[in-house]
Amino acid sequence: MDVDTRLAEDWVRAIAAAVEQEHEHLTELDSAIGDGDHGSNLRRGFTAVLAVLDSADGPSGPDAPAPDGGPGALLTRTGTTLISKVGGASGPLYGKAFRAIGAALPPPGQPPADAAGLGEALAAGLRAVRDLGRAAPGDKTLVDAWTPALDAYREAVAAGAGLPEAAAAAAGGAERGALDTVPLQARKGRASYLGPRSVGHQDPGARSTALLFQALAETTAARAAEE
Ligand code: ADP
Ligand code: MG
Repeated sequence: MDVDTRLAEDWVRAIAAAVEQEHEHLTELDSAIGDGDHGSNLRRGFTAVLAVLDSADGPSGPDAPAPDGGPGALLTRTGTTLISKVGGASGPLYGKAFRAIGAALPPPGQPPADAAGLGEALAAGLRAVRDLGRAAPGDKTLVDAWTPALDAYREAVAAGAGLPEAAAAAAGGAERGALDTVPLQARKGRASYLGPRSVGHQDPGARSTALLFQALAETTAARAAEE
């Protein structure tokens, strides 16, 4: 399965739909150990991302630049929109991550990324998050979901899995990683101000990262069913 523009767009739209459905839960998690805005932050960001996709110069609009800017450009633009629209810590973190994923994908005219290529791009996304936020695994942040997701993805690809199977493995890794943040004490971000009182709650950013990988699994499974 190729990582083409439609796959990238479908993924971003699936994340936006998941955020729309789960924003109250994300906000509830952030109310326990943060300031209660993670759901609304991401909702604002992805609403803006959808507006860009739906605009006349979006990827499938009548004024879309021809030829197709490719999946990299679409994801880079998604990241730029998140950075400009989301004030919280998560805006720049996810924004930089999408920009790094976009930059790591081959430009139009080159062979599209396959499962391994997308793995490289997802790794670049995690590096961008870590460069900006300086969080290590175990600090109770979205890094704790992204890291096991990437490990599971790479392991699946190394074992010969195609994109949908690797993405399903990544979604499982992210889900476990998000749940595993519950007993951790936060060492980065707002939740760290609570010290030991941050223990016993799931990190909201790790939960939203689980949504992101679940959306990738659903998008690639739907594409596989078509092919
Ligand atoms: P804010 O904390 O500014 O209110 P959000 O509520 O939108 O922003 O996002 C909070 C989430 O951001 C946290 O749950 C955590 O996963 C993530 N986060 C915060 N700081 C960092 C960091 N330094 N590195 C990685 N992730 C972080
Ligand atoms: Mg918050």
